[in-house]
Amino acid sequence: MGSGDSMALRDPAPPPGNVREAPRGGNELMAPARSVQGTSVSPGLAIGPVHVVLARPERVPEWSLPAGHVPAEIERLAAAVLAADAELERRQEQVAREAGEKDAEIFAVHRTILQDPQAIKEVERMIGEQRINAEKAVQLLIDRFEKSMGRLEGDYHRQYASDFSDPWFRVLDALLRRELEEIRSSDEKVILAAAELTPQVVTYIESNRILGVIAEEGGRFSHGAVLARSIGVPCVVGLPNLLARLEQGMRVTIDGGAGVVQLRPEPSDIDEFLDRRAKMEAVRDQLVVHAALPAVTPDGRQLDVRVNIESVRDLDMFDVEHTDGVGLLRTEFLYLERPQFPSEEEQFRMYRRVLERMGGRPVVIRTLDIGGDKPLPYFTTPTETNPALGWRGIRITLQWRDLLQVQLRALLRASVHGNLRVLLPMITSLEEVLLVHEVFDGVRKLLSEQGYEVSAEVSVGIMIEVPSAMLVLDQIIEHVDFVAVGTNDLVQYLLAVDRDNTWVSSLYDPQHPAVLAALKHVADVANRAGKPCSVCGEVAGDPATAVLLLGMGYDSVSLAPNFLPEVKFAIRSTEAVRAQHHAALALRATTANGVREVLDGIRHELYDHPSDERSTVGK
Ligand code: PEP
Ligand code: MG
Repeated sequence: MGSGDSMALRDPAPPPGNVREAPRGGNELMAPARSVQGTSVSPGLAIGPVHVVLARPERVPEWSLPAGHVPAEIERLAAAVLAADAELERRQEQVAREAGEKDAEIFAVHRTILQDPQAIKEVERMIGEQRINAEKAVQLLIDRFEKSMGRLEGDYHRQYASDFSDPWFRVLDALLRRELEEIRSSDEKVILAAAELTPQVVTYIESNRILGVIAEEGGRFSHGAVLARSIGVPCVVGLPNLLARLEQGMRVTIDGGAGVVQLRPEPSDIDEFLDRRAKMEAVRDQLVVHAALPAVTPDGRQLDVRVNIESVRDLDMFDVEHTDGVGLLRTEFLYLERPQFPSEEEQFRMYRRVLERMGGRPVVIRTLDIGGDKPLPYFTTPTETNPALGWRGIRITLQWRDLLQVQLRALLRASVHGNLRVLLPMITSLEEVLLVHEVFDGVRKLLSEQGYEVSAEVSVGIMIEVPSAMLVLDQIIEHVDFVAVGTNDLVQYLLAVDRDNTWVSSLYDPQHPAVLAALKHVADVANRAGKPCSVCGEVAGDPATAVLLLGMGYDSVSLAPNFLPEVKFAIRSTEAVRAQHHAALALRATTANGVREVLDGIRHELYDHPSDERSTVGK
């Protein structure tokens, strides 16, 4: 597999609005090109029907309708208006019962507004003339009305605007609810398309039904991107105006490594695509041989290769025997999938299952890391101007101690079922570590008073994601058992580049010399203190970067299961002394391009000069 198919850390994203149409040769002047160039997030090839989903509450899903589908869409609208009316009637009756007829009058007004034939005609006209889905047409009607009312002064008009919009928002709800029920009750596999790549999009349906993900916007290292890689599906972002060109169910192909999406491929395109995919799968099958072998260099250095997972379900995506454990279990997804906070018992059962399944291999479980782009629907966090620098991770759980206590209780109770290591996210100072130790000791003491058995071996480590923790690591290291570098956040905080923001994604550069210096510093401090150190950010999934990390002194990496065979192959193919040489060269580079040259050199050695073992792997 060549570097073009591995994680594309090198291609800067095009600035928004500057999407290049991929050259298709021939007839571009006569027909709009159907291949669109975006930014690679996750490699792989996929083909299938597209399903557009809601990415953000303020942006409804939109797609184009083929001419023959207009009547059916108008029927969908009529059904949603009826459902909204029924819901308003239900509320009207409830309020009349509980508060009196007078208070219930507003719902009667809303129902009348909904029956306004002018408004309904207007939405139907937009569906027919613009060939857009009902959700989009209703949204346009609301926008239009709010705009015209917004120009008028005074509370009366503002109130009127909201009275008008409210019933139409219920129509929108009904359309979206039905769409969600339909897709969730189907078993069709689809390519999800969205305005923005968020964790909500990638968890919209079960992961085994997602063939790929495409989005107009989204950072390559955002949590949505991390999730797409972790479920091992191709993903492309940076595709402005994509949704307007899609139809629900339209067939598309994705080349995740190259960042290309093809809309409505011709039969000949499909043949070519399937041929490429078969070749790629053959290469992958050859690499799988390495997955079963330990990641030991020819001169005998071992790099533990662990996996990043988000749920118990993920354990079915790889062979446990091929891993050196779980290097990062992001527990927030356990919380995100529930309608309310999971109980201690629920958490205990889940942690126990993971520990048992890993059969004595280390399992690093990270305490809740919500906030930022991972809000819990049932836990109100403030609207922040700068959420990445706001109330998130350990800051939340140290403030809402019972959240941390319940999670630690469940973890410690589960600890007797395997080899548990607890990891703390977003640590910025020694004080935070000491505070967590206090809570941890308290929980342990109480559990033993209550007669629970707890393993004496549970180690506690910290994520290095914030530069301050990296800079005072010399002082913190005595108080922790291990460190894990989260490069996804460390890069954003070191370079002052939001990992979720498409506008600055070309500046989000894991190959910046400052990132390498930080990685080396952490490895040096940990090695001096004799404490294990790993990297569990996305860069660890790039085989050439894994070689550099070994050369810098890391003893383990943790990555999406999909990348495991190739990373093991890279380590098994590179002498440790050679890896150290590459690391020294990369650390001397004064520019990101200089670092990239070193990485290219490693790839060249891996793929262009195959030794006996490597000869099975094509480029
Ligand atoms: C990281 O920041 O690199 C990391 C592993 O954590 P997350 O991606 O969940 O923020
Ligand atoms: Mg992080």
